[in-house]
Amino acid sequence: MTTTGTDTVRDTVILGTGCAGLTAAIYAARANLKPLVIEGHEPGGQLSITTLVENFPGWPEGIQGPQLIENMKQQAARFGAEFRMGHVVSADLAKRPLAVKVSGETIHTRTLIIATGASARWLGLPSEQALIGHGVSSCATCDGFFFGGKEIAVVGGGDSAMEEALFLTRFATKVTLLHRRDQFRASHIMLERAMAHPQIAFRTNTTVEEVLGVEQKEVTGVRLRDTVTHVESTLPVSGLFLGIGHIPNAAMFKGQIDLDEDGYIKTHDDVFTRVPGVFACGDVQDRRYRQAITAAGTGCMAALEVEKYLEEHGR
Ligand code: NAP
Repeated sequence: MTTTGTDTVRDTVILGTGCAGLTAAIYAARANLKPLVIEGHEPGGQLSITTLVENFPGWPEGIQGPQLIENMKQQAARFGAEFRMGHVVSADLAKRPLAVKVSGETIHTRTLIIATGASARWLGLPSEQALIGHGVSSCATCDGFFFGGKEIAVVGGGDSAMEEALFLTRFATKVTLLHRRDQFRASHIMLERAMAHPQIAFRTNTTVEEVLGVEQKEVTGVRLRDTVTHVESTLPVSGLFLGIGHIPNAAMFKGQIDLDEDGYIKTHDDVFTRVPGVFACGDVQDRRYRQAITAAGTGCMAALEVEKYLEEHGR
């Protein structure tokens, strides 16, 4: 970190405090780069809205998602990472030093790690929001295990929904796939596989109007509406999984770095964007794996590349 006049130029700024951002923060802090880490509107990322995480190596009994995130944050702080709450509004990545506008303040930095994640798309129903972590989930890999021997529903008509439904048949006795139309975005092969599965039932032209069980604090069913007949019905289920897509949090970088057609940051060689000194890691650039451990892995890579960049270009 250097100060010129009244302006401080950071060695590195990390945007995001999910698994990717915090792992980058641990590595950058241990390299004595004193990273400034910006916590956005979903601090801790998707792990902070999960319950038990059983597939993160090193926790044989599993660990609560928010606890895992808190541990990582403390680990980064211990080595000198500085945390600040803020909303990233825009960035100027063409200039040197790079400039990032965070909640009205402009921060200057030599390098930038974008770890802003992707937010699961939700239906937006108040009952759905109230029951996230209590039977409502957007991550079958994370939470499917808890539904052994139960009946559940999956919402969506794309590959994510098919994949979730198929995965969940390992645990649930029955999976009902609810889709708002009768045409599917899912690839032919995924759709066929789901349709052929004896444990998966399809209900098309169906919307979820309400998730039942808010008072009991656990999902007991869903109230559905047929979009053709407008008839309402209740489906008793213990879980509701959303497979309606993710929204990468990268819109503020449009025009500055390359985004793909769905708004994910395009990277090459794992974490490099097309702008030297700007790296992206975690779910904002990964539409394929989307796991805590893969996000942590790319966070580590981004921090190591920052170190290398600063060695080559000077601090
Ligand atoms: P997607 O293809 O955009 O499908 C989203 C689905 O959710 C659509 O069927 C959509 O319905 C529905 N939906 C969206 N908003 C909704 C709402 N508010 N209420 C009810 N339904 C809603 O997203 P995705 O399935 O996540 O796939 C994204 C990309 O990743 C795709 O390119 C996909 O092929 C890829 N992917 C691949 C795999 C794989 O190959 N194994 C696995 C997962 C994802 P409408 O159709 O009516 O719009």
